Amino acid sequence: MIEYQTLEHDVLVIGAGGAGLSAAVKASGAGAKVGVLSKSLLGKAHTVMAEGGVAAAMANVDGRDSWKVHFADTMRGGQYLNNWRMAQLHAQEAPDRVRELEKWGAIFDRTKEGEILQRNFGGHRYPRLAHVGDRTGLEMIRTLQDHGIHQGIDFHMEVTVLTLLKDGDRIAGVFGYDRERGRFRLFRAKAVILATGGIGRAYKITSNSWEYTGDGHALAYHAGAELLDMEFVQFHPTGMVWPPSVRGILVTEGVRGEGGVLRNKDGKRFMFDDIPPLYKGQTADNEEEGWRYTQGDKDARRPPELLTRDHVARCIQREVREGRGSPHGGVFLDIAWIKERLPNGAEVIKRKLPSMYHQFKQLGDIDITKDPMEVGPTTHYMMGGVKVDPDSQMSAVPGLFAAGECAAGLHGANRLGGNSLSDLLVFGSRAGEYAAKFAKDLKAGAIDDAQIESAAKAALLPFERTGGESPYAVQYDLQEMMQDKVGIVRVEAEMVHAVEEIAKLRKRMDNVFVPGNREYNNGWHTAMDLPNLLTVSELIARAAADRKESRGAHFRDDYPEKSAECAKFNIVLHKGPDGEPVLTRTPLKEMPAELKQIIEEMK
Ligand SMILES: Cc1cc2nc3c(=O)[nH]c(=O)nc-3n(C[C@H](O)[C@H](O)[C@H](O)COP(=O)(O)OP(=O)(O)OC[C@H]3O[C@@H](n4cnc5c(N)ncnc54)[C@H](O)[C@@H]3O)c2cc1C
Repeated sequence: MIEYQTLEHDVLVIGAGGAGLSAAVKASGAGAKVGVLSKSLLGKAHTVMAEGGVAAAMANVDGRDSWKVHFADTMRGGQYLNNWRMAQLHAQEAPDRVRELEKWGAIFDRTKEGEILQRNFGGHRYPRLAHVGDRTGLEMIRTLQDHGIHQGIDFHMEVTVLTLLKDGDRIAGVFGYDRERGRFRLFRAKAVILATGGIGRAYKITSNSWEYTGDGHALAYHAGAELLDMEFVQFHPTGMVWPPSVRGILVTEGVRGEGGVLRNKDGKRFMFDDIPPLYKGQTADNEEEGWRYTQGDKDARRPPELLTRDHVARCIQREVREGRGSPHGGVFLDIAWIKERLPNGAEVIKRKLPSMYHQFKQLGDIDITKDPMEVGPTTHYMMGGVKVDPDSQMSAVPGLFAAGECAAGLHGANRLGGNSLSDLLVFGSRAGEYAAKFAKDLKAGAIDDAQIESAAKAALLPFERTGGESPYAVQYDLQEMMQDKVGIVRVEAEMVHAVEEIAKLRKRMDNVFVPGNREYNNGWHTAMDLPNLLTVSELIARAAADRKESRGAHFRDDYPEKSAECAKFNIVLHKGPDGEPVLTRTPLKEMPAELKQIIEEMK
């Protein structure tokens, strides 16, 4: 007999990052009894790491900005595979969500006139990122948490969800365990919102925290939801490369937004050599113009360092591959050079990029006001995720919603920097609003004991074995393999091989052994993360093998060009009746004429 504690809510939110908290605040504001679960402590969700800012066309710094320009930038960045309705709602609603955050107590950096300050970022035509130095995520989480706690939301910290429970087709609750004592918990709920973030821990080099094991993606998939765009994994161009213990930690795009430049070992600004035709008209063709742009000259075009992340990452990789990289396998990112232009350059760097200054000083013993940083690509963001209705954020499973990084659609083939925090606010709020509506006047679903029994048994298996492999070894081999075979540059044979390797890793997973007991046992937690990591890795590899072109974050060495044919569909995966993934190429929905016109006008 399995022992567990039972709790009950109208709306249950899985995840206490920006998306989860936004959803919880809205659902609770609509009168629902709301609970929030998180794998880590409150305040520790990955959102807290967000640095550069939140994109919202408030036009405080450049009056030419508008939701239409933001919409066009987002679609161009996503190479037009985005869900246009989500891109429209996002661009239209982000300014109000930022102002709402301010009303609830967030203190943003200010313009001289006292308005919220906005900074430049890759792929955004005008300065658009509202920010708090380079600690924007911290301010966002702090504000939402304070607001949520005062609204009376129930928080259940350090609780990990293992499975979603269903009553027939609809969602009825979730089953999980508390990390501290290892006790099982059942949460009954009329509506469940997944806000579990990304999948970065499927790769070896990543900017992502330990929580990012693709749980929400895998939970939704196994519960019958569809997953969209799984081939699009964003590799951020600038992660730390040295020393090895900190490899992958993010170096914010804000460094380039403030005038930082990329150079190879010969001191050359190589980004000027490769400007994609889609961006030619908007990109500076000389260093002087690029500098003026970063200093707010409205007539200047942005420097090529601020091209989209996929492109910059590939250019860096090319420099390294062709022998022009830095000593530790990256390139140089130099912000110290701005002292040639600004007499108080060192103070500007410390004021505008305080976290970067401390990060390099403490982790790499480098003073970025004096020396360049060494940087290289790092697995950063998952564009793919749960396919949702663009207005309500509900998945194909009635009562199951998703928002934030674990949902998909807004970003298409590539996300622009700053568009995640705004995504969390806009679609987190929408998910909360619609989940509360869904739960209203609905009876709680029935709980099937067999589902609980089977989830608990599977969870405890690693303790029952008398010997076997360490879960860390399986996780490590998976990360190496994904980095190698389904990384920045992909080819068919390697991805087919990856799927075969994942099947072998699954067999090894079925033989993992964990010593000790259930109390704060990290090995056990890793064993339970493995099924999710393997599920998402397989779906990424299958989708990536099927998209026979290069677009956005997905680059195929065997198909290096964009294909007009592939521009017409998204890849959708669901779990078939035999338990195997079923892949469908789903045609894009026709865009309304007025949105098409906006894109044409902004070209
Ligand atoms: C270093 C860094 C800097 C960034 N800077 C920016 C930026 O400046 N601007 C921008 O727009 N984006 C930025 N991003 C991206 C952005 O931070 C993330 O995409 C975003 O925070 C994701 O928010 P979320 O709410 O979807 O998930 P998260 O904030 O990660 O929250 C996920 C939550 O789900 C919980 N969870 C996960 N699995 C389970 C489970 N099984 N059971 C229970 N709980 C679970 C976790 O504990 C956590 O509480 C940055 C990312 C990084 C890594």
